Amino acid sequence: MLRASQNLPLRLRAVRERIAAAAARANRSVSEITLLAVSKAQPVDMLRALVSLEVHDFGESYLNEAVGKLDALAALPLSWHFVGRLQANKTRIIAERFQWVHGLDRLHIAERLSAQRPFHAPPLQVCIQVNLAEEASKGGVPPSELGELARAVATLPRLRLRGLMCLPPAESDPARQRAWFARLRALRDTLNEQGGRLDTLSMGMSADFESAILEGATLVRIGSALFGPRPARA
Ligand SMILES: *Cc1c(COP(=O)(O)O)cnc(C)c1O
Repeated sequence: MLRASQNLPLRLRAVRERIAAAAARANRSVSEITLLAVSKAQPVDMLRALVSLEVHDFGESYLNEAVGKLDALAALPLSWHFVGRLQANKTRIIAERFQWVHGLDRLHIAERLSAQRPFHAPPLQVCIQVNLAEEASKGGVPPSELGELARAVATLPRLRLRGLMCLPPAESDPARQRAWFARLRALRDTLNEQGGRLDTLSMGMSADFESAILEGATLVRIGSALFGPRPARA
């Protein structure tokens, strides 16, 4: 039987080729698009294998699991992105150990992260999650409340508001996928017209990252297309 990690270089090459093809279609440079490997539920050896293939950004959702990997790979110059749901009682470890947070949707969580960010570290980079379809099962701020939250987060001293993130409803039709991503981009553009300085659109996963790139994604969050189907959580 093939070990899963033996497929990794091939899968990574295929994902990079698809990113490059989508960027070319959009007349964009691939250098504008960060590949975030969403490594939740993957063993640390898989991450090590990706590091050797020049992947430097990893996304994790479950803190207990993430901390073991952060410790194991602490000697490497990696960027760690927290992409899970944020709970107030777990903010300290995120503020201390991660470089990015993608699911920010409440001011009191943002205030805790800012207060808990160690002084020797650069500001924690954050994206506000927008719940475009206002789905009850998902996190994110409704579009109507985005402006107020963004202005408040931008004043917090130890956070740096980089952009917006979304997890839109699953759509198989690329035109419908693109319509969601276009909405997130428009929200970002509106904030920037009002004086914001948001340079990041964290949008697109394994099933829809090409549509996201066509609509301006600067960071795609990819799990199963890189690693294969996720193992069940222990
Ligand atoms: C798991 C996850 C991903 C990756 O999903 P795939 O469909 O496996 O690519 C991306 N973003 C978030 C927030 C996730 O939780």
